[in-house]
Amino acid sequence: MSAAIGVGKEILSNCSKCKLILAHIIVTMKSLTSPDKVMCKTCKSTQSFKDPSAKKKKTSVAKVIKTARSSSGKKSTETVGEMWTKALNKASQEFKDYTIKGSFQMGDVINHPTFGQGIVEKLIDDNKIEVLFQDDFRTLMHKK
Ligand SMILES: [Zn+2]
Repeated sequence: MSAAIGVGKEILSNCSKCKLILAHIIVTMKSLTSPDKVMCKTCKSTQSFKDPSAKKKKTSVAKVIKTARSSSGKKSTETVGEMWTKALNKASQEFKDYTIKGSFQMGDVINHPTFGQGIVEKLIDDNKIEVLFQDDFRTLMHKK
């Protein structure tokens, strides 16, 4: 494999001004495979290439990825099951047995013969409610 580096190419270098491993543009080459002077794309300063892999490239890059993942992952990973558990914990009312003839309000906790315990999340129209069950949201009829 020939190294894909050369003048004008981008390379990660340890910027002595920014004190960070950042993308630099190669200004001059020492040899075919090692850069000499590089320019930091962030602070625009030209300096000697400092190979970041010699120091802590791996850890800092891994850290950034991990942080980004855990902070962005939290909101989207709340499963229906977790929402259901939270909603049930909040609900202080007694369970109502679900029947199609029953009449339900938002926030009612119901006991469905097939789907189990659920919380009425939304009144869709006069005869339909949206219920959060442990495994999914379901639309149920009522007041029939
Ligand atoms: Zn810099």
